[in-house]
Amino acid sequence: MTQNMENKVAVITGGGSGIGKASAGLLAEKGARVVLADISSDKTEQAKKKIEAAGGEALIIETDVSNPGDVQECFQQTVDHFGRIDTVFANAGINGTITPIEDMDEEDWDKTINANLKGTFLTVKYAVPHMKKNGGSIIITSSINGNRTFKNFGFSAYSSSKAGQMAFGKMAALELAKYNIRVNVICPGGIETNIGENTHPETDSLEKVKIPVEYPEGRQPLEHRPGKPEEVADLILFLASDASRHITGTELFIDGAESLL
Ligand code: NAD
Repeated sequence: MTQNMENKVAVITGGGSGIGKASAGLLAEKGARVVLADISSDKTEQAKKKIEAAGGEALIIETDVSNPGDVQECFQQTVDHFGRIDTVFANAGINGTITPIEDMDEEDWDKTINANLKGTFLTVKYAVPHMKKNGGSIIITSSINGNRTFKNFGFSAYSSSKAGQMAFGKMAALELAKYNIRVNVICPGGIETNIGENTHPETDSLEKVKIPVEYPEGRQPLEHRPGKPEEVADLILFLASDASRHITGTELFIDGAESLL
């Protein structure tokens, strides 16, 4: 079974940068028409240009995944433009504010949960009506944090959102199986992207709660290096394509064994 995406339409949230951008590029290279749904328009412009330069087709729809109206409109515009939706990559996310629990402001907590967890719920909710007829593949970007790893102090909101995405993905897989919609969850470890721009560590207060946990050879046992967005994109292509047609409701860790430490 090939990993051909000809005649398929893929919506990628957070498609303007990092994992989303690399995945959009690869899906387009394999024949999919892709929608880059991102809050940041200058980044998505660059991603679109790169796809088109390689002979692919991409549409930008400026979308804040935490805003229900934006998300609903994004899928409607996709169907109006391309006529169908086969793959949804619910990938947009932020690290948000990283601070001890007692110092975490309610609004910072809400911002992270809304972007990552509510955003995933809204993405799936508004994709389903368009995917029910033909079936398809939904992939959610969770993380090792909140699922296997709990040592990143200050990440309480982030890890909670990522654990919630895992449970939500499994609920969705079971509920949507009757429509032949598959739902899988990926859990990356450290990947070299632009997520630092949406990371706000409060360093001084973190020192108060940190327990020293260190692996002397770097964070990843495999090759002692973080992952690359393109390596995650290879997994997304597999999960989006018919090559994974019997896989649903499962999580896949892609972390060079980082989360096993
Ligand atoms: P990135 O910052 O390079 O890309 C994320 C993209 O999401 C950006 O283009 C950003 O504009 C967009 N975005 C942020 N909030 C949004 C919103 N509300 N609506 C729409 N778009 C929004 O980061 P990345 O590392 O590629 O992150 C992608 C996903 O991978 C996230 O869900 C992140 O939690 C997850 N992840 C990343 C790592 C890592 O080490 N980089 C590890 C595990 C999981």
